[in-house]
Amino acid sequence: MGMMVERMPEFVLGLDIGGTKSAAVLGTGDGEIIDRIEAPTEIADGYAATINRLCRDAGELLNRNAVPKSRVLGVGISAGGPMDAEAGVICSPPNLPGWDNVPVMKMVAEQLGMMVAVENDADAAALAEYRFGAGERRYDVVAFTWGTGVGAGIVIGGRLHRGVKGAAGEIGHITYIANGVQCACGKLGCIEAYASGSSIERAARARVLSGEKTMLADMPSADAKAVCEAARAGDKVASDILTCAAEAMGRAVAIAAHTINPDIITLGTLAFSAADLLMPVVMEVVEKEVWSRIRDGLRVMPSPLGSRVQDLAAISVLLERL
Ligand SMILES: [Zn+2]
Repeated sequence: MGMMVERMPEFVLGLDIGGTKSAAVLGTGDGEIIDRIEAPTEIADGYAATINRLCRDAGELLNRNAVPKSRVLGVGISAGGPMDAEAGVICSPPNLPGWDNVPVMKMVAEQLGMMVAVENDADAAALAEYRFGAGERRYDVVAFTWGTGVGAGIVIGGRLHRGVKGAAGEIGHITYIANGVQCACGKLGCIEAYASGSSIERAARARVLSGEKTMLADMPSADAKAVCEAARAGDKVASDILTCAAEAMGRAVAIAAHTINPDIITLGTLAFSAADLLMPVVMEVVEKEVWSRIRDGLRVMPSPLGSRVQDLAAISVLLERL
């Protein structure tokens, strides 16, 4: 008796646009990533080349997985801020030179003929963390990106808090050291200028140039990955650079804890790729600088979504709008 109804899974496309690489992703509404195509973001070729390529790759993902457009809910886009998320316009992000007032939502909607939603990468990561990660769809979450830059997305009561200018959570640009080093945003001494992956690299180059005894001098690259490698091999200068960065990140976490008083604060790329080196220092600062009343019960952790966070972020952008 009765009819067997097989549940038709609903598919979602995601486009993750980053300064070094971009990916088209095919996933389900339940957060399963089925397939993805990633390629370098060729800044010199202009934004249209990247957007057109991502749309072609999205079509290819549907083709090779035999998913008809009729079963796709839409397209979520995660890209570096600043942007006008409502209008779907990317506004000159520091990590995407030449992407000035790019109507990415309109361009993708025209090419793919689907509903499209856009958020900045930190907000998108927070949506993913709320829906599929530590947030378990019930906790208040602040999700930090911790890579080339430092930013945070804020989900309170299940809703993304964007702020009037879409700039809520720009904690990376709170001043850490007055009149300190130059930040990518144009100000001096921001948290990001001390905590980010790019600032780790800049510090490493400076320490090498100053003639300090460090194995970084003999390594082909001085990026954050190389600095972590050197620190794990016992290099004191490398450890010192990472400690300074993690202390600045700890301050960002403390600010978020006091401002939002969330259940959970998650930390992105550097935290889960070098948790052994960075998290003890971050937690030490949290212990020292966060008022005990707020710290009690607060969970601070590397993103449990790990390297999947960016794919799920793009997909979550669309799911949040449904
Ligand atoms: Zn800044």
